[in-house]
Amino acid sequence: VNEGILDPWLQKLRLTRPAALTRAVDDVSLDIAKGEVVGLVGESGCGKSTLGRMVAGIMEPTAGQVLVNGQDLKTLPRHEAEAARLKIQMIFQDPYASLNPRMRVRDIVGESPRLHNMISAQDVDQYVSEQLERAGLSASLRNRFPHQFSGGQRQRIGIARALAVAPDMLVCDEAVAALDVSIQAQILNLFMQLRAQLGLTYLFISHDLGVVEHLSDRVVIMYLGRIVEQAPVSDIFSKPNHPYTQALLAEIPKMRDRKKVFSMIKGEIPSPLNPPTGCHFHPRCPHAMPRCRTEVPLLKTVAGGHLSACHLNDQT
Ligand code: SF4
Ligand code: MG
Repeated sequence: VNEGILDPWLQKLRLTRPAALTRAVDDVSLDIAKGEVVGLVGESGCGKSTLGRMVAGIMEPTAGQVLVNGQDLKTLPRHEAEAARLKIQMIFQDPYASLNPRMRVRDIVGESPRLHNMISAQDVDQYVSEQLERAGLSASLRNRFPHQFSGGQRQRIGIARALAVAPDMLVCDEAVAALDVSIQAQILNLFMQLRAQLGLTYLFISHDLGVVEHLSDRVVIMYLGRIVEQAPVSDIFSKPNHPYTQALLAEIPKMRDRKKVFSMIKGEIPSPLNPPTGCHFHPRCPHAMPRCRTEVPLLKTVAGGHLSACHLNDQT
């Protein structure tokens, strides 16, 4: 997949799992290039958080590999693997749950760079102040505790903490999902500013295709543990190929309208524990054919840089 865009800095993810009881992520292969913003979209339970955690090194794939700059971190000496992992930081949905309520912001942001000897003890205040300002917070707030901040400010603390270890890549898992729409826009703008300033690479995980639209170069759509479509962002919105992507797009106006948090496509999301045979989407697909119940559709190129896994593409 995407062998054409290989470059030395390419982060290759080869994640495959053999037959097992539960497969959160099943035979997924994804490349992310340096400086690229990839939006990873799907409903809850589709495996996107699991994939994000594997990318960030928080979770190990049971089979397959995660390659960073072409290297499998498992084969590196421990201190080198740790240093490489530090370069990929994760931003979570609930900043409050991920911030220690008994630590001051100064220590939350300064802990990791101190631990990794990136700064000396006397430089902590100055360093933390810089990180807070980069994240759009006043340096004067560094002696406060997390509960003294709003949700959006707490997310900025989480971002400052991530920036403090000089990452190359941020994995954002529903990083704006818990915030009000106006605050969402501010945080998304901050991510884009940081991209421009620092050349950061992003894997931006969201259930909301609308959230990733303005941010992503490329969008990857997952359904029940498999990638069903991936394409440059403009193609996803103007020429969606997969029936699931088409259904997700039709949902955007309803999601913007926030009355129903997630009404979603016809039919229940099947259990990831016991996914449907063949194309996982067939029970909900308006175009399902007999072969969809038995044959797994493979991810195939439908246009330049545009891949889709649907049997409809085989018909002439
Ligand atoms: Fe629908 Fe069949 Fe395509 Fe799956 S393979 S999305 S069931 S048409
Ligand atoms: Mg999740």
